[in-house]
Amino acid sequence: MKALVYGGPGNKSWTDVPDPRIQQPGDVIVKIDTTTICGTDLHILKGDVPAVEKGRILGHEGVGTIVETGPSVTGLNVNDRVIISCIKSCGHCANCKAGLYSHCLGGEGQEGTGWIFGHLIDGTQAEYVRVPYAENSLHLLPAGVSDEQAVMLSDILPTGFEIGVQYGRVKPGDTVAVVGAGPVGLAAITTAGLYGAATVVAIDLDANRLEKAKEFGATDTVLSGSRDWKEQVLALTGGQGVDVAIEAVGVPATFGMCTDIVRPGGSVANVGVHGKPVELHLENLWIQNISISMGLVNTNTTPMLLKLVAQGKIRAEKFATHHFGFDQFLDAYDTFSRAAETKALKVIIT
Ligand code: NAD
Ligand code: ZN
Repeated sequence: MKALVYGGPGNKSWTDVPDPRIQQPGDVIVKIDTTTICGTDLHILKGDVPAVEKGRILGHEGVGTIVETGPSVTGLNVNDRVIISCIKSCGHCANCKAGLYSHCLGGEGQEGTGWIFGHLIDGTQAEYVRVPYAENSLHLLPAGVSDEQAVMLSDILPTGFEIGVQYGRVKPGDTVAVVGAGPVGLAAITTAGLYGAATVVAIDLDANRLEKAKEFGATDTVLSGSRDWKEQVLALTGGQGVDVAIEAVGVPATFGMCTDIVRPGGSVANVGVHGKPVELHLENLWIQNISISMGLVNTNTTPMLLKLVAQGKIRAEKFATHHFGFDQFLDAYDTFSRAAETKALKVIIT
């Protein structure tokens, strides 16, 4: 089969590799119908994620059709259409039972956090993928939900919702600020409404992203490059500060922006991956009674979010901006990596 293979920092190719095979009784082989590219793939390609080895097939988002099931798999059949969760999880260990799929203790000689596709196991930017623990890692796709909608449920929608909105404890009537209106920030913006946020302020450097944010339900937008960005945000709250600030960029400065605009007693939910230690001014946070949360997505809300997508309550199709075929994979990467120019949000590869 063909797959997008990481060849070390700065190197990738769409090339021939062996087809995946069933290795464990709970595995399923999925033929990928639709996949997409995430900012994390660009981090890996820069060499910022040393855990990813040369030869790894990238990608952790995908929708496809089951072509083979392992002997112990029940409830999933050949020809079923499925969404692949970005993290594989057994569903039975102590951490999975607690909803912490990202800390699945499973087996297969790999222990610890983050068994993300395209990271420690081969990913979804390929014609076929092996999905371990398929019963818990795949979700049946109902008729009426398109691939383009469904692929947003592999990672970005659950990430924005679980780590931004849920960990941030958004409540009815809250004012929520989301710093970073990329796909993950937009997912937080659109799902903040599920808990009844009254005001959702999108903050980004890119005016085009702020326009998008309005389409996703932001009530106000603030250009983060402007000198009075903070005053603009505070003015929306009568000077008090926001109830919840969600960091969806992944740089120390934007974490600092969140702590600057949150009200006393409010919360900061850090979604961004910083990739290196970030200095934390505990004294400033302590004196303001600020709660901070963070973490890796679990995707345990994917079935619930899928229902809302099916009902048209979450407009997942709005993330898709560009379309490519598998034979144009490198063009898709090029378009996605020049997002400021191309206005790409999620590029769809089918
Ligand atoms: P992205 O790069 O597409 O979007 C980031 C946005 O932040 C862009 O619109 C950019 O213009 C904006 N931005 C950059 N600097 C800014 C600044 N100083 N002020 C305001 N806005 C600024 O990223 P994404 O795909 O949306 O992902 C966002 C973050 O979430 C990344 O760090 C990603 O690695 C992380 N992530 C975390 C998890 C998790 O499990 N916690 C899962 C997926 C992604
Ligand atoms: Zn588990």
